[in-house]
Amino acid sequence: FPYTTLFRSGRRLQPGQPMVPVSQLRLDDRPAMIQHLALDALQRHLAGSPLYGWATSLPAQIAARIEEGHGDLARWWSAVQRLPQVPAPKVELAQRFALHSDHDAVLQAQVKEALQGLIPWRKGPFDFFGVQVDTEWRSDWKWERVSPHVELRGKRVLDVGCGNGYYQWRMLGAGAESVVGVDPNWLFLCQFLAAKRYLPELPAWHLPLALEDLPEKLEGFDTVFSMGVLYHRRSPIDHLLALKDCLKRGGELVLETLVVEGDASTVLVPEDRYAQMRNVWFLPSVAALELWLRRAGFADARCVDVSLTSVEEQRSTEWMRFQSLPEFLDPQDRSRTVEGLPAPMRATLVARKP
Ligand code: SAH
Repeated sequence: FPYTTLFRSGRRLQPGQPMVPVSQLRLDDRPAMIQHLALDALQRHLAGSPLYGWATSLPAQIAARIEEGHGDLARWWSAVQRLPQVPAPKVELAQRFALHSDHDAVLQAQVKEALQGLIPWRKGPFDFFGVQVDTEWRSDWKWERVSPHVELRGKRVLDVGCGNGYYQWRMLGAGAESVVGVDPNWLFLCQFLAAKRYLPELPAWHLPLALEDLPEKLEGFDTVFSMGVLYHRRSPIDHLLALKDCLKRGGELVLETLVVEGDASTVLVPEDRYAQMRNVWFLPSVAALELWLRRAGFADARCVDVSLTSVEEQRSTEWMRFQSLPEFLDPQDRSRTVEGLPAPMRATLVARKP
């Protein structure tokens, strides 16, 4: 078996090294997966733009990441490949994500089985030929709060921490010229590829990379989104600077994150978990966040929305069976998390790179 000699580093087995292959994806599947990412189409799309040089470096970088792989990647990728071929599917993106065809009824059992192979589904909802993927999050509600404040028509967009790409499709629905998403999570990549399978021509690309994997000073996007990522970062100002690096001059940042009540000097750092999440670092007030944006060199920072997350917006479903927000709040006092901290409140800020 060829892959028994390949390891995380991509180097050959050295004497004395353990015989446990980290990557479970069959070698011959990798080219198919890379092809599905459509990096050649991305290159063509970016020809003549400041991002072209970067686009030409991506196939090698991503092939190396796929080489590292993930223990479940082969299983998830095979679920994507079990999705039936559908001639000329129709798609709705402006009001919701929905795929239709003339054969929905005969497709549904096969579509559902394949999509269930990609559980847990966190961001959505998606309608695949009448199969309703009822995700943990009503991401469409967040999009309704964010999208009225951002003009996307004709814009080249980067979505940092794009998850399974739900918003990427909705951004195209709002008129974006193209949307590149980056997210290091392999399951979310495969969920994106499930949708991309039916929409190969649409200008949406998902790169299995972290923001830190992008080159410095890309300066090629009109709009950069960072939604639900900042509070996971240990160095939030560095995150803002890295986002600014991706923007053209005059470009717009859309930042959505958890906030707390308070003035410009208020920032909550949880002692341990926050709403059962382990990797939560900084929860600033809106005023503190505006200050961070100014210090990071953004102009015209303004808050366009603040809302408390409801237990209807984030909850367990048939497609995400783990515990969710209702279990993460204090049953006696819904304004507190189980750790006794303020319940999740999220703000959306828009700012410009001068
Ligand atoms: N933007 C989506 C998803 C938020 S969840 C939404 O608003 O609903 C946070 C996502 O950020 C996860 O999918 C996680 O994999 C991703 N992420 C975490 N660290 C990241 C990094 N350094 N660069 C890019 N994405 C990251």
